Amino acid sequence: MKFFVINIYMCTHILYIHICTYVRKFVRTYVRTCACISYTKKQYFQHRSGNLEDAQPKSAGNAVLAKITTRMVKNLIKRFGIKSCEDVCILPYATGMCLSTCLLYLKYVRKESEYVILSRIDHKTIYKCLDFCNLSYFVVDMIYKNDELYTDLHKIENLMKEYNSKVTCVMSVTSSYAPRNSDDIIKISHLCKKYNIPHVINNAFGLQCNYLCKEIQKCYDTNGRIDFVVQSCDKNFLVPVSGGIVFSNNKINMKGLKNYYPGRIPIHAYMDIFITLLELGEKKIMELRLERENNFFWLQNKIKLLCNKYNLSLIKNSKNKISMAINLNELYKYCDKENPRCIYLVGSMLFYRNVTGHRVICSPLLIQQAALKTCDLIETGGLSEVKKEEI
Ligand SMILES: *Cc1c(COP(=O)(O)O)cnc(C)c1O
Repeated sequence: MKFFVINIYMCTHILYIHICTYVRKFVRTYVRTCACISYTKKQYFQHRSGNLEDAQPKSAGNAVLAKITTRMVKNLIKRFGIKSCEDVCILPYATGMCLSTCLLYLKYVRKESEYVILSRIDHKTIYKCLDFCNLSYFVVDMIYKNDELYTDLHKIENLMKEYNSKVTCVMSVTSSYAPRNSDDIIKISHLCKKYNIPHVINNAFGLQCNYLCKEIQKCYDTNGRIDFVVQSCDKNFLVPVSGGIVFSNNKINMKGLKNYYPGRIPIHAYMDIFITLLELGEKKIMELRLERENNFFWLQNKIKLLCNKYNLSLIKNSKNKISMAINLNELYKYCDKENPRCIYLVGSMLFYRNVTGHRVICSPLLIQQAALKTCDLIETGGLSEVKKEEI
């Protein structure tokens, strides 16, 4: 698997050099022509824009590359099943900052608003985004029923009713680490429509998943409200951490967002993705997506077998087709209950056997219980010492 990844990067690199020389040549000639035209019009020094999508006379290649890349990405998103995707923009920073850009824009549009309603996710970035935008938030816990986690729509609706125009937006999450399920974005989008509140979807690594793309399209088909869908370039398109993609079915909203973005966009945000998409092509990308899905089911079956063997269980999360979680409680039979964190050892053992991307989490409840026990021990220990002194 590692070799596979290195290979892709090496190919990309070689191609990169070719394209770079090609693009540079192209840019040079293009810029010269543009410059000549501008000079004759005597507009050269006035004609620079601080807008994201405007052509820059001084770097026409930039503008062309940006336009082509954005078109390619839009095309792909449609191919992934989100046919209602009307407008796309690629921003030069990772998902968290893209979410922040959307939040700031929505706050700017809804002047009175100050709260974000968030379906709980245990990922630091989101809370940093909200702090960064100076927004307060209501975190709505998910409900545990029928052995899995569901969005608490009732609580979200109550908050929407109560705070209405004070709400900047509702933020839902589709792609997340198990055992969290994808939020019920269809119902949330209907609530947002009903109460006229913006809806932002954090779809960080969801573009690679057919199921999630279909769910997003269903929101549009059933006339639900989604203002922005935000995803990461590196998590979906095999590029190094570089940019994020925002799309929407609402062109006016997207135009507003693009105008709100201060300044021009550096070329690197487009370059990586342009090269990668050129190298892979649509066909290969669709194949890789299918392969990932098949691999997931294959792995799931293997893990089920493994779990049966050791009396463990795979946690149910029917709306998450990207990540899975195993309940390890059974292992506490073999390790020290006084020190529940020793379960973390499983994580490092797997890591040393070339498994990456996993995480072993110790139940906060067990940590708490163990802490209480040690507290008891320290207290009684302390008391006995005092007693000894008294004696
Ligand atoms: C990756 C990710 C983010 C954002 O991370 P960035 O480093 O900003 O790209 C946010 N939420 C989820 C669920 C993620 O997977």
